[in-house]
Amino acid sequence: MIPEHYRKMLGQKSAIREIFAYGMERAKVIGPENVFDYSLGNPSVAPPEQFTQAMLDLLQTSDPLTLHGYSPSLGIESVRQAIADSLRRRFGIAYEARHIFPTTGAAGAVAHALRAVGRPGDRVLTFAPFFPEYRPYVEGAGLRLEVVPAHVEDFQIQFDELEKRLAPDVAAVLINTPNNPSGVVYTEATLHRLAALLEEKQREWGQPIYLISDEPYREIVFSDEPAPYPAALYPNTLTCYSFSKSLSLPGERIGYVAAGPDCAEAETIIEICGQISRGTGHNCPPSIIQLAVARCLNVTSDLRVYRTNRDILYKELTDLGFTCVEPGGTFYIFPKALEADAGTFCKKALQYDLLLVPGDSFGCPGYFRMAYCIDTDKVLRSLPALRKLAAEYR
Ligand code: PLP
Repeated sequence: MIPEHYRKMLGQKSAIREIFAYGMERAKVIGPENVFDYSLGNPSVAPPEQFTQAMLDLLQTSDPLTLHGYSPSLGIESVRQAIADSLRRRFGIAYEARHIFPTTGAAGAVAHALRAVGRPGDRVLTFAPFFPEYRPYVEGAGLRLEVVPAHVEDFQIQFDELEKRLAPDVAAVLINTPNNPSGVVYTEATLHRLAALLEEKQREWGQPIYLISDEPYREIVFSDEPAPYPAALYPNTLTCYSFSKSLSLPGERIGYVAAGPDCAEAETIIEICGQISRGTGHNCPPSIIQLAVARCLNVTSDLRVYRTNRDILYKELTDLGFTCVEPGGTFYIFPKALEADAGTFCKKALQYDLLLVPGDSFGCPGYFRMAYCIDTDKVLRSLPALRKLAAEYR
């Protein structure tokens, strides 16, 4: 018998995917160049040359049985070591190979981290606006997602709302910085305050509260300063990383969980991840991809286009009168819709072949997301459509 909760999910398909599918159909009619598709966060730049070379070199020079063989259940040792070394150099935390668990992207990382620290029925707190897949990740782990309302002025954290929801049944607080969909990077001040609050609650309750920090956009920041690293400020952090965006490899499904040496039960958590993957069936990302990304830890794709697109869109949107927090990273922008119902607003946008995603599915009604991981030429060509849409509200 098919379980009812899966049947229910059929009625809750991803709004982003549905808009994307609409765009594909529309492209057949008017040509892909005329669809201004801001729906999906699929990187628009090629992976770096180093990745291609690493793949070719591995294929040409490695023992094929090893290269295409099962990886150990906790990941390939040399890959774990390379990731640990890179993190140690960058963030000054003494990671070792035993603190790293390679996963199938950030999705796999978050899904494992949640299962490792949450008992069935525990709550997980996250902050609006949030990546809609958090709900299936959390509920799929048998946990309950509770959303702290957005602080719309700057999309940092509303601490009074967080504090109200913190109780001993909170297994983890799930953050995402730089953030999808707002593009906002949590400041050091925000992360310090969050760390202080969680430390205080841990002391009060005599149990760890894990911070699950989902960081697929760590490398896509528009200031000269790197994004603050949450694990450096709060030891009980499980960092969930992905190479999907920094190396433009979303289809290769590769990322990791990192639990630093000062994280409570770090090694047990990592070992447990290996056991969890036996049950989820998502055991071990492909060996060749693990080995290839381990050779690309100091490089990224050419990410400059995202900043160019951010600058164009932020200026245009604010000139047109949209309320909008300036994104500090990612390739998303999250303006306020020009009418209360963002769904209706996004439907109107379709008349101009502008594909926008209503904020409702990100837990932030009244806003909409634009994923500007598209060519700059298309961003520029979409501006007249954006102007026509805005003109409907004058
Ligand atoms: N977390 C956030 C915030 C994302 O935006 C995404 C993908 O868009 C993911 C997780 C999943 O990423 P991955 O492709 O690495 O599984």
